[in-house]
Formats: sequence, structure tokens, C-alpha cells
Amino acid sequence: MPELPEVETITKQINRMLPLKIKNVKWSKFKKNLLKKEEINLSKSTIVKSYRQGKAVVMELDNGFLICRLGMSGGWKFTGEYKHTHLQITGKFVLKYVDPRRFGKLYLVRSLDDFKVIDICGPEFNLEYLRSVLAKGKGELKPFLLNQRYFPGIGNYLASEICYYTKLRPNTPVKKVKDLKLLLASIKKVIALSIKAGGLSFHGGYHDTSNKKGGLKTKVFWRKVCSCGESITKIKQNGRSSYFCKKCQN
Ligand SMILES: [Zn+2]
Repeated sequence: MPELPEVETITKQINRMLPLKIKNVKWSKFKKNLLKKEEINLSKSTIVKSYRQGKAVVMELDNGFLICRLGMSGGWKFTGEYKHTHLQITGKFVLKYVDPRRFGKLYLVRSLDDFKVIDICGPEFNLEYLRSVLAKGKGELKPFLLNQRYFPGIGNYLASEICYYTKLRPNTPVKKVKDLKLLLASIKKVIALSIKAGGLSFHGGYHDTSNKKGGLKTKVFWRKVCSCGESITKIKQNGRSSYFCKKCQN
């Protein structure tokens, strides 16, 4: 599932190609399932900018915004033919929304207001912010990191990796997390490493706009052995797999 670094990669790649004056828009028969709001007419627009808002792909138009949540398997492509293309935008180049499992959602809206979230990569995501959300935090650390209200864009692999860098196990109670500086640094570090590597691909998942895989090498997620030599332990938390090293995280 694409998380913050994968969305950042996609939006940067799209942004480099812009502007795109749209000449033709073609939807698949699943338009109604995917397009959740249609306040503006895409076929008369120009895409001027593309950026990330949390885990959402934002395409800024001259008359509004095309916002896309990628869901489990959504992606944007410049090249290639794909069986599950649900939206094809044609101008001086072609931009395709491809989504085999169709859990993605698209919105054509006049304003971005309903989609604004805190940016984990921005200065407002700081020690003070972390202190305030941890005070409200219940349960275990890794599931807590998946709460999109507090950590928009953090998904399953980032959360496992963040726990590794904090040297805490994924099932550590949130109340017992004391070193907020380390937690903040770990969040920023894991995200920066992944963005630099162009995200993570595993189990035939995420590919970028040119259909290339992400290059991130994880420490514990989807791994069998830790760099310390210890076997990686896999547990389930709220039905999601968590990975950790018993030796490095305790
Ligand atoms: Zn280890």
C-alpha cells in the first residue's frame, strides 16, 4: 500500500512534467465507484502543480483540485498499457490512473480545505506536537503510529521501521514511550530515507509513474534476519503484521 514516501515520489514525478493542458478525459466503467465528488469539470482544466497532502496525491488545476487517495493498489503512470486503467488524461502527454483493486478514491473539488492535514515532513510536526498527541495516545506504539488523524501518511512498513529506530518493540504501551526526541528523530529519519530511495516495493506492490520499484532497504519490515544477526520476530497487531528484532528493540 502506498504510504507517504511513495506518494511524495509520485507527486514529484508528475510535477516535473507539468503544466498539462487537458485535451481529453476518459474514464472506465468504474467512474462512479472511484470518483467521490465532482464539483468541477476536469476536461476543461490545466494541471498546474502536483504535491502531496498527507497520503493524498493533489493535482492543482486552474479551476480547482483533483485529489486522489491511492488505496491499496492505486498509482499514476506516464508510460505503458495497463488493464486496470480507470482514468486517462490526455494533453501533451498521457497520465493514467491505474488501480487493480479499486480501493482508491478521486475527488474533483473547488477547495482543498477538507483535505488539509498536518505534514509530517513540515516544521509543525515537532516535539510539541508529538507531546500533545502522545498525551492522548492509548494502546500500543505501532498501532498508535497508524492513526491517520495524528500521523497522516504513516502506514504499516513505516510504523515497523520507526519502532526499530526508537529501539522499542511495536507492542510497547504508548504511555511507556519516554524519549520523544528519539521518536521524533526516528519518524523523520525513516521517512527521509524512504523518500530518498523512492519508496518501498514488496510483494509485487508499489511502482512509480514509470513503473519502477522503490529502492528502500528496510531494517525489520518484511525481513527474516536483523543486521545484528538475530532472527526477526513477526507478530499481529489489530490484524496487521509487525516486525521487530528482539535484541535491538527491548
Ligand atoms: Zn537486531
